[in-house]
Amino acid sequence: MANITVNKTVHPFDRARLESLLSRRFFYAPAFEIYGGVAGLYDYGPPGSSLNANIIAEWRKHFIVEEHMLELDTTIMTPATVFETSGHVARFADWMVKDKVTGDVLRADHLVKNVLQARLALDKEARGFAAEPVVEDPKQKKKKDKTKVKAVKLEDATVAEYEKILAQLDNYSGPELGQLCRDHKITNPDTDNEVSEPQEFNLMFASSIGPTGQHPGYLRPETAQGHFVNFARLLDFNNNRLPFASAQVGRSFRNEISPRAGLLRVREFTMAEIEHYVDPEDKSHERFDEVRDLELELLDRHVQVAGASHTARMTIGEAVDKGVIANQTLGYFVARIYQFLVKIGINPKRLRFRQHMGNEMAHYATDCWDAEIENSVGGWTECVGCADRAAYDLSVHSKKTGTPLIVRQQLAQPKVFEKEVVTYNKKNFGKTFGRDGNALQEIINNLDEPTLLKIKGELAQGSATITSLDGREFKLTPDHLSIDRKTIKESVREYTPNVIEPSFGLGRIMYCLLEHSFWSREQDVERGVLSLPAVVAPTKVLIVPLSTGHFDALVKDVSTKLRKAGVFSRVDDSSASIGKRYARNDELGTPFGVTLDFAC
Ligand code: AMP
Repeated sequence: MANITVNKTVHPFDRARLESLLSRRFFYAPAFEIYGGVAGLYDYGPPGSSLNANIIAEWRKHFIVEEHMLELDTTIMTPATVFETSGHVARFADWMVKDKVTGDVLRADHLVKNVLQARLALDKEARGFAAEPVVEDPKQKKKKDKTKVKAVKLEDATVAEYEKILAQLDNYSGPELGQLCRDHKITNPDTDNEVSEPQEFNLMFASSIGPTGQHPGYLRPETAQGHFVNFARLLDFNNNRLPFASAQVGRSFRNEISPRAGLLRVREFTMAEIEHYVDPEDKSHERFDEVRDLELELLDRHVQVAGASHTARMTIGEAVDKGVIANQTLGYFVARIYQFLVKIGINPKRLRFRQHMGNEMAHYATDCWDAEIENSVGGWTECVGCADRAAYDLSVHSKKTGTPLIVRQQLAQPKVFEKEVVTYNKKNFGKTFGRDGNALQEIINNLDEPTLLKIKGELAQGSATITSLDGREFKLTPDHLSIDRKTIKESVREYTPNVIEPSFGLGRIMYCLLEHSFWSREQDVERGVLSLPAVVAPTKVLIVPLSTGHFDALVKDVSTKLRKAGVFSRVDDSSASIGKRYARNDELGTPFGVTLDFAC
């Protein structure tokens, strides 16, 4: 069948044909379609569900089984305090603009991208080059086709500037995106109206837990926090040893501003996330040598900041040795992500890893690489993020809850050293500072050695002053505390692990896989084929009896044998011609066929 066809002349990719196939064969469809649908919500039909389940099964084998990860299944509904602590309530937001006349809402960075790409495409046309497919949403495309926008040649300097903006798009803040709209006269392409200043919009769906409405909650926008809050139990389960990883496949929710890109941008989707906990002082990976020689296309941050987007082909070993990728563990996961994506059928020529630029990365992260897969809807699209999140998550949850989320490592050789130690006169301290006492102690306990020595000197003169976080000054005297140099012997090292996080969006990967697998024969364009690898194909074997009625016993025998061997097969004993039956199953991506004929 599809995978063993040779000598094919392939028809150029046609997205409309793929979309028609996916809809007709019910891979997926808009949710609540009979009610008119809801943007960004999709239901998977039989082949889509099987494909998704097979991708997940392969992901579990590739990561959880192969790397001995600890699997989790944590709740979607999450108390607000968790996301206040993690920073999502304050920062999990995108910038949106409003059409000043119609009030239509658009995501600011997507607006800039779509408009500039459309202008560059028209410029190419005017210069006599075949325009590359512009990345845009189908709605806008329809409107453009109607009005037949004329090709317009741009100044060379303008082309260079647009290309630079596009290369750095993810690095702009909201106000900078607003400035770009003004500087480049970017309006709503649907109406040509001006747009408002960008405003932040938090992407989490708010809810409340229980009947009183007094316990706010959110639908999680990622599964990660469910891992972090269980860290102490996981560490215990792993016999207090590091490194180890937890892994989880589950639903996440993001109230996307204007989702118009099919499965690439949805409001409810399945994520597969790994949190790998590692010693901050040793981020080597014991299996790194297994992937060291793997070559990948890397687009590093320096290239993007310079306004370009060319990749460099490099082995993972070279990238880590040269410091392009921050450490071995991050490099190891980048390589394993690549191997997984290629194994399930992503075209390696349309896969690259892009490093986050400074502003794009979360402030606490030390390095972050996205696996980007090229497709006709979104161009190069982030499908997997792989970040070194340092100690941020465990530290903030530990501080908020008072639960130690740390590792205690027994040292082979106790460490002996001297340090300045603060001793409080609790009675006097409490009497003088009352309610402010705890906050003051926290500030003092976190002071570095030079500051403590300075305060010690001032106390010897009579008093020292400490400023609280809100700017108030507090006078300390020797009655409140003393600072003395002491010899410390430590036989246990305590530290907060760092976290390396590969985070997969399965819907995006599935859509890209369908695009990369789709083709049709030049002489028979109507018959689409999905060349899905057998590991993920919804049905592995098609059984086709040559004639109806004659082979019932044999069909039963073959299909029982396959079932017993755990191979998912399907029988097509309809009266349609063999060719038609093969064609129907080529569309479903069935890789193998068994024809039962009179010679059997
Ligand atoms: P992030 O936490 O934003 O890095 O997202 C992790 C992964 O989730 C991305 O690499 C995408 O594959 C996926 N993802 C994020 N947002 C969406 C969305 N709105 N629709 C579909 N997939 C998404």
